[in-house]
Amino acid sequence: MPQQQQITTDVLVLGGGPAGAWAAWNAASQGAQVILADKGYLGTSGATAPGGTTLLVIPPVAELRDAAVESRLRAGGYLSENAWIHRVLDQVEQNLAQVEEWGYPFPKDQDGNPLRTHLHGPEYMKLMRRVVRKAGVKIWDQSPALELLHDEHGVGGARGINRLTGEAWEVRANAVVIATGGCAFLSKGLGCNVLTGEGLLMSAEAGAELSGMEFTRQYAPSFADGTVTRGRMLAWATLYDAAGNPLHRGDRTFGSIPELMLKGPVYARLDLADTVEKREFLRRAHPIFFMPLERAGIDPFQDKFPLTLRYEGTMRGTGGLRLTGTACETTVPGLYAAGDAASREKITGAISGGGAYNASWAICSGSWAGRGAARHALAQPRRADSRQLRAAGRLGLTAGADAREPLDAKPLIAAVQQEILPLRINYFRSEPVVAAALKRLDNLMPYLAGRPPATVQGIVQSREAAAMLQAGRWIYTAALARKESRGLQQLAEYPALDPRQTHRLILSGIDRISITTEKVPHAHELQVPREERVI
Ligand SMILES: Cc1cc2nc3c(=O)[nH]c(=O)nc-3n(C[C@H](O)[C@H](O)[C@H](O)COP(=O)(O)OP(=O)(O)OC[C@H]3O[C@@H](n4cnc5c(N)ncnc54)[C@H](O)[C@@H]3O)c2cc1C
Repeated sequence: MPQQQQITTDVLVLGGGPAGAWAAWNAASQGAQVILADKGYLGTSGATAPGGTTLLVIPPVAELRDAAVESRLRAGGYLSENAWIHRVLDQVEQNLAQVEEWGYPFPKDQDGNPLRTHLHGPEYMKLMRRVVRKAGVKIWDQSPALELLHDEHGVGGARGINRLTGEAWEVRANAVVIATGGCAFLSKGLGCNVLTGEGLLMSAEAGAELSGMEFTRQYAPSFADGTVTRGRMLAWATLYDAAGNPLHRGDRTFGSIPELMLKGPVYARLDLADTVEKREFLRRAHPIFFMPLERAGIDPFQDKFPLTLRYEGTMRGTGGLRLTGTACETTVPGLYAAGDAASREKITGAISGGGAYNASWAICSGSWAGRGAARHALAQPRRADSRQLRAAGRLGLTAGADAREPLDAKPLIAAVQQEILPLRINYFRSEPVVAAALKRLDNLMPYLAGRPPATVQGIVQSREAAAMLQAGRWIYTAALARKESRGLQQLAEYPALDPRQTHRLILSGIDRISITTEKVPHAHELQVPREERVI
């Protein structure tokens, strides 16, 4: 790698989406020196920034909250934890009041009360950038982290590269927060081009565990020639086949698409928005949905447009780094995880956290991780620059002993996508098909021992390829180990929920992946009538 810049701080935050921004602000507010390194640009990169998010917010009325928490417990296959959902509901309220105080213009109801249920991405993340900077955090944009540093006491910093200058960087820090988002396998969803899973890989290399990787069967519909994934707009649509025959309309349109797509191309037209008022309302509420269609000369109220499904991996799935405590600690001392990089099973159970839970989780887990990381770093007897640190693991960055072949990341990424993106493998999961795909992924591992390229782009891509390959192997390993159907995990051979599997699947390891189970607090409450067992 090119010449290296070395610096020491208290807390290093990796990732500049909402989770990273909240972590950095909270760590700095505890008096810690903080550096935040983002692969893109804090303010525009990641899943939230280009669009926006609806939040999980429930007024502090005991009956309302209890009912919501109970209903999530059932829907999530009894893997969520009521206490954690209540924690999120309490914490997010405080944070949103803070966001308003910082100047975010929430709309008001007719009595003048703020409606704090949605955050417009560009405005929200621009504001977060401003407050994070004001709190004294050093923000490094275009600076992907590539590997963690550690010793026998735990994590001690990270190394990465500046994409603009080509300069390598090394930050020594007694606490690191992983807020690098989910892994969406470069499936071309808006904002997801940076979400390739390096945070998961580098943490696992340092010894962290993963949980919930089987709950990753989430695909989002989008205009085939665009990247915007707004499934809820299809509640206004009729779906058609290539010959123009109607296939499905309205309410449950979204869920029917995978089956329909197996038979052939699917088109949509928003013909249920049948008045000028409804059309105007939709255009105002979701302008971003219309942009790519307009650019292509399509009026979605009049014309049929082709649909595709974009795989969302661990992003709107629920799997990620396993948390071991209320400050979002991982199993590695000094290493914290927040947002989509962490497993969200504690609040979502086995079903997707997209659509409300993930956004509130990013805010809360970021806050807890930031504070926890600051406390940990400030309590250490010596600064990280006096520790004997070494790279925790470098899959895809270090050539094998006699590697002559160059590591060409592009075909490797395409080969991983070929196993992970297809509906017929990953959505319609069945044991032999998933097992065969996992075997093909395993067979790709030796390619990571090739000689990595010397260009900045090549180095970053090699690590992305390694992370996606590893994430794919974790996903299919977990999918084969959970022999039942529960939430986002379904296996054709086991179409029912099995109450004996009401536990978490914990994965660890890189080459050899180990699996253990973890008990969940509400497992004993699962008494499902026979006819409700497929959820
Ligand atoms: C279109 C869309 C709509 C959504 N809508 C909702 C919604 O309405 N409600 C809801 O609850 N959830 C929603 N989600 C889920 C959403 O993912 C989360 O709510 C939220 O964005 C998670 O925040 P995060 O900070 O963990 O990750 P992100 O916002 O994805 O940010 C991750 C950041 O990490 C950076 N990064 C990645 N790799 C590295 C690296 N190696 N080094 C340094 N930085 C790195 C990226 O550049 C990025 O800035 C939506 C997702 C999408 C894609």
